[in-house]
Amino acid sequence: MPVRASGWNVSVEHAYRPRLGMTAPSGKRAVPDPPVSAADASEGTPPRKKRRARSVRPKIVILSRKRTLYSTRRLVEATRKLGGRAQVLDTLQCTMLIAPKANQVLVDGAPLRDVAVVIPRIGTSITSYGLAVVNHLDMIGIPILNNSVPIARSRDKLRCLQLLARFDVDVPRTVMAHARGDAAQLVDAVGGLPVIVKLVKGTQGVGVMLASTMQEVRSILETFAGLGEDIVLQEFVAESSGRDVRALVVGDRVVAAMRRQAGGDEFRSNIHRGGTGEAFTLPPGWEEVAVRAARIIGLEVAGVDFLEGRHGPKVTELNSSPGLEGIERTTGVDVAGAIVTHALELSQKARAGWTRPRMI
Ligand code: ADP
Ligand code: MG
Repeated sequence: MPVRASGWNVSVEHAYRPRLGMTAPSGKRAVPDPPVSAADASEGTPPRKKRRARSVRPKIVILSRKRTLYSTRRLVEATRKLGGRAQVLDTLQCTMLIAPKANQVLVDGAPLRDVAVVIPRIGTSITSYGLAVVNHLDMIGIPILNNSVPIARSRDKLRCLQLLARFDVDVPRTVMAHARGDAAQLVDAVGGLPVIVKLVKGTQGVGVMLASTMQEVRSILETFAGLGEDIVLQEFVAESSGRDVRALVVGDRVVAAMRRQAGGDEFRSNIHRGGTGEAFTLPPGWEEVAVRAARIIGLEVAGVDFLEGRHGPKVTELNSSPGLEGIERTTGVDVAGAIVTHALELSQKARAGWTRPRMI
């Protein structure tokens, strides 16, 4: 199915629910303020005390180190536009209180309350603490858009590819061995030279190398072994050299997709390595692969990366906190809105006791 160029249905009960005095998205009052009654207006009558109604607007917590980041700002904006309240919490400011039947997340010493749903944006520099916080929120029973196990799976390229291959999603042929003794055997296992060598926990193109000779392979393997870094060797998908495709999965569909093209002689197409993006219409069947990949890893929101192989798409990785700037600017799709809408839906379903059936 081709990717919809823009727009998605807001089917969430919370969204744009007209309330007294609320400004509708059009800028008009959704419901006019109530008229002042004659009794209230007369001189001798004390003004009726305004009751402070408990806000019915659902609170969405966005875990993020910085509120000024593009993706964080867009999620806040989308939350407000959809009638919710947004609270940005620095993941490192969340304290976990662990006590039988009294697990809590404390922020400035006060327990976090009344949260409809959490959208975690966990950077790779704080994966370990971030995952603990996400896990703790889950223990308390707060719905989370991307839970800790799926995030951990996606952060480890080997684990991610193992799971995808196990469920027949096409991935580049990959090998990992502890003993680096016979490099030639490892290269043979992925189909010969040239090969890609990758750090298992690399990101933004850092630690992804192309080796064209056995000598290069050996020296890269020795260097990383010396540094104690885990790496994998991977088939070089030559027909896709210099470009890849990012599909943004939200729930059960792809809401936007772009193709990234590397600059100059570079084979890595990451925007952080100078790559540029353009909107891309997924060929038939690709959306299904992207959604399936996200489902296998267990992610509700995922940036699924493909290489364009001769025989179809090969998934290279999944990103659990995909950046929104590149994809929104290149496609014009309101991805933040789609994520928040899905978060609100998930929170409603979770309240009704629903959990997504797990593949693993
Ligand atoms: P990172 O997590 O650092 O982005 P990737 O696995 O996505 O790591 O690799 C970075 C870039 O290198 C990809 O976007 C793609 O352009 C290129 N690349 C990665 N693996 C291969 C491969 N097996 N064959 C060809 N190009 C690749
Ligand atoms: Mg990548």
